[in-house]
Amino acid sequence: MDDIVVIGAGQAGASLVARLRKQGFAGKITLIGEEPALPYERPPLSKAYLLGDSEKERLYLRPASFYQENDIEVLTGLHVDTIDRTDRVVIAGDRKIPYGQLALTTGSIPRRLPAAIGGDLGNVFTVRTLADVDAMAPTFREGARCLVVGGGYIGLEAAAVARKSGMEVTVVEMADRILQRVASPETSDYFRKLHRDHGVDIREGVGLQKLTGDAEVRSAILSHGEELPVDVVVVGIGIAPATALAEACELEIENGIRTDARGRTSDEHIWSAGDCASFPYKGQRIRLESVQNAIDQAECVAENMLGADKDYIPYPWFWSDQYDCKLQIAGLSTGYDRIITRGEGANISFWYFKGDQFLAVDAMNDARSYMVGKRLLEMGKTPDPDAIADPETELKTLLRG
Ligand code: NAP
Repeated sequence: MDDIVVIGAGQAGASLVARLRKQGFAGKITLIGEEPALPYERPPLSKAYLLGDSEKERLYLRPASFYQENDIEVLTGLHVDTIDRTDRVVIAGDRKIPYGQLALTTGSIPRRLPAAIGGDLGNVFTVRTLADVDAMAPTFREGARCLVVGGGYIGLEAAAVARKSGMEVTVVEMADRILQRVASPETSDYFRKLHRDHGVDIREGVGLQKLTGDAEVRSAILSHGEELPVDVVVVGIGIAPATALAEACELEIENGIRTDARGRTSDEHIWSAGDCASFPYKGQRIRLESVQNAIDQAECVAENMLGADKDYIPYPWFWSDQYDCKLQIAGLSTGYDRIITRGEGANISFWYFKGDQFLAVDAMNDARSYMVGKRLLEMGKTPDPDAIADPETELKTLLRG
């Protein structure tokens, strides 16, 4: 039996099944998703789609015909109950789907505010699925008061759309600064100024005590006791890896579904990729929450399922659009001890180093710094920091030699 079943029809699952066929796998492929839609892109949900600038059809990663032509069975709207690892069967309601190899690309689940503090009131939204944004978009009306809880990318992208929609916007971030988990103080400063310049009230070191209202949210009481009248609340307080199925069938879990460098879990017939998987990298175990990782890791795992036997080495990149600013990040800045700044004002980039090793670049409206930084990382090269800081340096020359 060489059938392959993939549970989770997001970016990672869709990339994995496509790569299996591209590599010539001729057996049966079944892709199972809990949401009712075919695999779609999530990044536009908190940007163009929420703003009403993008059609739903444009979100789909591939048309239905792709799956038909490639003989990939996609089962949408199907909740998997259990995995029987002994008999190698996926059980979903009264369906039993046997597998030779299985991949878990179950993604992640947004953290929600507890019901005890008003998290289940009307007009309180998380931003993860098409259904979330379809429910939220009609509440984004001119003059409405929007509270964003959490100053990560979800919160800041939603805040930018809310301002563009003519809403009054307050962001509360519990940590000392917005983007603390993912960016340097310099990048946080840039985005704090950007949002304040657009009229967003950014409060850092401030949490939420509770939301109040009847059926719908009416006000928010902040951690220092202040009460804010609100009409809409967007909750962007992070995500947790979706490990429930893996835990229920007793796979090893360690900040996500534990895999080896090839993407194999503690069961030799089960693999994992994307937001839900943690893997060894440079002597640590990491889990990456990004589109780049969902695609590249899933494609690597697909090849390993067919016997390629290669380690997954991530080359992380991210992007975010807020107002007219395009942020592009290459690499992981974790552990940096020095930042070199190139450019100024709205067009600026921050280059991260640890000792004499180049780690990452955050580029705001500076595509060239991003592209050169990304290429340097892929080549394993560290540029001369003085050359980076010198505005006269033609960046492309750093790729030579
Ligand atoms: P995130 O990056 O974890 O940011 C959530 C922020 O909310 C954290 O700074 C967190 O602070 C704060 N927070 C938590 N509880 C809070 C509370 N009760 N009150 C106020 N602040 C609170 O997660 P996210 O923004 O929700 O995004 C989810 C995932 O999607 C992330 O992996 C994100 O990177 C990804 N994403 C990426 C993009 C992009 O690449 N453009 C866009 C959207 C989303 P603490 O850290 O102190 O808990």
